[in-house]
Amino acid sequence: MQTSFTTEQLADPNVAESEKILRRCVHCGFCTATCPTYVTLGNELDSPRGRIYLIKEMLENGRPADAETVTHIDRCLSCLSCVTTCPSGVDYMHLVDHARAHIENTYRRPLADRLIRSLLAAILPYPARFRAALQLARLGRPLAPVFARVPALAPIAAMLSLAPVRRARTAAVTDPQPVSTPRRGRVAILSGCAQSVLDPGINAATRRLLTRFDVEIVAPRGEGCCGALVHHLGREDEALAFARRNVDAWIGEIEGGGLDAIIITASGCGTTVKDYGHMLRLDPLYADKAARVSALARDITEYLSTLDLPVLESRRLSVAYHSACSLQHGQRITALPKLLLKAAGFTVRDPAEGHLCCGSAGTYNILQPEISAQLKARKVKNIDATKADVVAAGNIGCMTQIATGTAIPVVHTVELLDWAYGGPKPAKLATSGRKDRARPVAAARV
Ligand code: SF4
Ligand code: SF4
Repeated sequence: MQTSFTTEQLADPNVAESEKILRRCVHCGFCTATCPTYVTLGNELDSPRGRIYLIKEMLENGRPADAETVTHIDRCLSCLSCVTTCPSGVDYMHLVDHARAHIENTYRRPLADRLIRSLLAAILPYPARFRAALQLARLGRPLAPVFARVPALAPIAAMLSLAPVRRARTAAVTDPQPVSTPRRGRVAILSGCAQSVLDPGINAATRRLLTRFDVEIVAPRGEGCCGALVHHLGREDEALAFARRNVDAWIGEIEGGGLDAIIITASGCGTTVKDYGHMLRLDPLYADKAARVSALARDITEYLSTLDLPVLESRRLSVAYHSACSLQHGQRITALPKLLLKAAGFTVRDPAEGHLCCGSAGTYNILQPEISAQLKARKVKNIDATKADVVAAGNIGCMTQIATGTAIPVVHTVELLDWAYGGPKPAKLATSGRKDRARPVAAARV
């Protein structure tokens, strides 16, 4: 794609980067076929190619964002399916990140939109606030249909509907104490924000499983939200502040006792932490440290695949594996989780249209409830068609979204692996009556 940025414009490193990305696009349109919003809405401006044109126009003219551009960029899920499909290597992720920051800095949104976005940014990254908000949401749930009737308040209705009916069980009782001497590895596990409130059992299962395989786990002080939630809202300064805080926490540990990996169990967060090196590349104080942190970031399935877990007998339980966009498109991890599940004795089924987003996408299911609901219905239909006993996914956002649409229990991949290798049965499967243990049949690397 030809561009005509001025030398002055290109002096801004973010514009210079966007120009390079734009120039790689050859308008072929292959990406449109795998874009969930184009597939759903059929509008070229809701396709990657259409959005790339809109971003080019906005940045090249150096003008504030207009309502039309904002509408179509807001409808983008940042699922990155287009990045997987693009034969020219267009780095749409960093292009749309730049566009979102530009929109945030130059466009004045309607009042209700501004308030809801500020509310999300002020609550979701902070576990104590999020926990309190969920309590309120449970009480307000019956009012969801009332809010849904007013278009500007539809996000509030979506928030109320998504709030889990019951409080998440605390997992602390079954957690092992971290071991004190280094053994097969020494890792930190990102505790993060929303996942620790919605489902603390995921990281509890991770700790149990890693401890069982002789991995030392440390919990660096000061680590928290990865910044992804505000990053996708275009609130760049806030996202960078979260990133710096985590970099400080992890670098302290890396330079202290040392770390072999930073384990992340929510793939949306993993994609962001792996991008810290890029996000902080222009900060002379943090660029190197952030790059070191990103180099150590691993999805839990990546790390487990290095541990030579034994292959187990079949446990006659079928698993529909939902491949989170942030895992398959953001981190290019597609086969590993399924290989681990198969080696642990599960039968794995692939739902049709696995490349299409479930509509969760961070705060997307709150801010774009209609498109999100259509994508959820499509995803759940494909998952239900597998007739699997359980759904496994590697991202809390997807798990929450899919669980509100299907009767099949939805768990994290690591919960099934923990169970297979000697941990407790996941609470959501507790009534299924399946056998709880499988014997090793061979020691093999998976
Ligand atoms: S990130 Fe996803 S929704 Fe956005 S343009 Fe790419 S494929 Fe479409
Ligand atoms: S597939 Fe890549 S090169 Fe082709 S239109 Fe989409 S982004 Fe541009």
